Amino acid sequence: MMVPRRTAGGRQTAEVRNRIADQWCDAESGRVQENRNPGDLADLVSRSPDSGTADVQAAVGAAQRALPAWRALGPIRRGEIVMRAARLIDERREEFAEAVTREQGKLLREALGEVDRTVALLEYTAGEGRRLGGATLPADDPRTLALTRREPIGVVGLITPWNFPLAIPAWKVAPALLSGCTAVLKPSPLTPLTAMLLVECFLAAGAGGGVLNLVYGGREVGEVLVKDPVVAGISFTGSVEVGRAIHTAGAPRFLRTQLEMGGKNAALVLADADLDLAADSIVAGAFGQAGQRCSATSRVVVDRAVHDELVRKLAERAAALQVGGGLDADSRLGPVVSADRLLACLDGTRQALAEGAVAVTGGDRLTEGVPQGYFMAPTVLTGVRPDSYIAQEEIFGPVLSVLVCDGFEDGLRIVNSVRYGMAAAIFTADTSLALQALERVDAGMLHVNRPGVGAYPHMPHIGAKESQYGPAECSPQVWDFYTEWRTACIAY
Ligand code: NAD
Repeated sequence: MMVPRRTAGGRQTAEVRNRIADQWCDAESGRVQENRNPGDLADLVSRSPDSGTADVQAAVGAAQRALPAWRALGPIRRGEIVMRAARLIDERREEFAEAVTREQGKLLREALGEVDRTVALLEYTAGEGRRLGGATLPADDPRTLALTRREPIGVVGLITPWNFPLAIPAWKVAPALLSGCTAVLKPSPLTPLTAMLLVECFLAAGAGGGVLNLVYGGREVGEVLVKDPVVAGISFTGSVEVGRAIHTAGAPRFLRTQLEMGGKNAALVLADADLDLAADSIVAGAFGQAGQRCSATSRVVVDRAVHDELVRKLAERAAALQVGGGLDADSRLGPVVSADRLLACLDGTRQALAEGAVAVTGGDRLTEGVPQGYFMAPTVLTGVRPDSYIAQEEIFGPVLSVLVCDGFEDGLRIVNSVRYGMAAAIFTADTSLALQALERVDAGMLHVNRPGVGAYPHMPHIGAKESQYGPAECSPQVWDFYTEWRTACIAY
């Protein structure tokens, strides 16, 4: 079911609503926020509710009431519903991709890739409905059956960021519902439309009646959700700072949390690497999705012997990326998502330049030859010190820092010298060093001689250090968040 829409300036402006139990509804306060396309600020993409405490409480209440019947349905039937949702998303592939591009800014081809990845994730998750079991174990006593089984934890809150506005909400909603939990989804206030389309598909697939609820808003909505005593778990993706706040707020009542957080991901390039392969891969990892991936490559740690040659190749490739709006088929680099993010990119870059770094390409905002929007020129910085802000903190934009190392050990030390541990890549012809990196890089996801981004639905999406807390997403590990174990000893 679509909520009412109206037309503005040739494109539709979506009137997005909360979904609570069986109703699409406004925020109780009537407050609304507007969202514009970051790659074309004339395009008003949506109006969405700016919700508050009462809306969250109503959604949690609806999820609580829906829980007994949903649990009773069993994982096989619930898996069929997740599979139907996958089919419905696939049928609306272009509509989803356009919504993602208009409200988030990424290139249409990237948005289509996100839709396809989401469908694959849901198909994988749906199939797990036939495998969600426990074990039978040996018993100490005769004529006794000892077994373990999983039970859903109850009502869960799903708090998501804007950078994958479809895939991340989907990879939380699907396992939550499949495991028998009911849910309240709170998407990023920057990307409300895609979340609404996703919820429409799940409702049409059979997850209505309060099983899946949707509440729009910002920090306040998230905080109320975290504090609600009915909510048994919070699955969160976003920044380390907000993840820490959620974990701290929930700790007194032992709230279960799954926190997927930021990254400061490095590509280590050794002297024997194929430099063209490395440069192509690093540019894809650093500037794909305008650098706004938790796994985006934002540091290159390169052996001094090949530093100058690699920098030349990186600069050439980055400078050749055509910057423009996401719906423009010629664009190779879209905008960043908001004015705040643009400012963060500019501030981080200016600080690095003031500390002695050199912009071999880019270094500033782009306003010429692009629509009105939040465009940062693809930026490659050299002479970056390992302990500087830009080398240590997530900038989350198309800004790549190059650091020099002397050999593998020195490179490894620099790669591991940050508080984050999301993803990493190594480029080398030496298989032994690649395998040593496997053992010694402090990152959840390692790539060898390929871009440091991307994953498969059946593999854990996992970080190390401050990038991650709790069970991983996108793999069988996810059940350890949405379910808890029960044991039984049955005499017969
Ligand atoms: P963010 O932390 O600012 O916000 C994430 C979500 O939390 C939003 O829905 C926001 O409204 C909500 N929120 C804000 N304050 C809250 C509070 N006090 N309590 C509860 N909820 C609150 O992150 P963002 O800017 O939306 O996204 C970018 C961040 O997400 C980056 O750090 C990026 O690395 C990270 N990210 C991580 C992964 C991963 O899998 N590890 C994937 C994508 C993005």
